[in-house]
Amino acid sequence: MSEALEVIAQEVRSCTKCRLHEGTKHGVPGEGSPDSEILFVGEGPGFYEDAQGRPFVGAAGKLLSEMLQGIGMTRDDVFITNIVKHRPPGNRDPLPDEREACGEYLERQIREIDPVLIVTLGRHSMATFFGPTVKISQVHGTAKPWRDILAYACFHPAAALHQPRYMDALREDFAGLPKALEQARRRAAERRANPSDTAATGGSSGPDDEAPAQLGLF
Ligand code: URA
Repeated sequence: MSEALEVIAQEVRSCTKCRLHEGTKHGVPGEGSPDSEILFVGEGPGFYEDAQGRPFVGAAGKLLSEMLQGIGMTRDDVFITNIVKHRPPGNRDPLPDEREACGEYLERQIREIDPVLIVTLGRHSMATFFGPTVKISQVHGTAKPWRDILAYACFHPAAALHQPRYMDALREDFAGLPKALEQARRRAAERRANPSDTAATGGSSGPDDEAPAQLGLF
């Protein structure tokens, strides 16, 4: 972990900016390679993540590790974090003010890690980078420019565990990830070569070809 990421992690662990910290055991800042090209963003910690202070360590995490292994990667090759860093009670959806309170941490993690590709896991994370009205069933397995980065949408591993019909879709999403990474690397290289060339930031591998999303995080 880099020094800057460790500072963020310490702030997350002692964070009281919203109600979510109440009754939790641990803040879960995220973990992985600080130099990773890929940042995975899930929704929020669950029971086991809260108990251990680490992201994706329960059943969904095991499936995530398997999916990574399937494309020749390990957890150590990537950085894994969540939209909210404390467990919502009863695993309910994070509320807008909780997402907003936590947004600053994700913003700073993105800046520090400087990934070429953000992989969203599940609809809450997807909505942050693809837009709040977009349906995950329509965009999973596709990539879209978000700021200077490419965002790639995947179903959440927990969805595949709860509803086996999503398992094939999740596998397909991960099978498409290496191609999205290549595309993201090409965009990043073009941007480095032509810092003022906005054309290098355009393009979409998604089903539609609308303009790049220019979203604030929340
Ligand atoms: N689900 C998530 O979205 N994040 C975790 O860390 C664990 C389960």
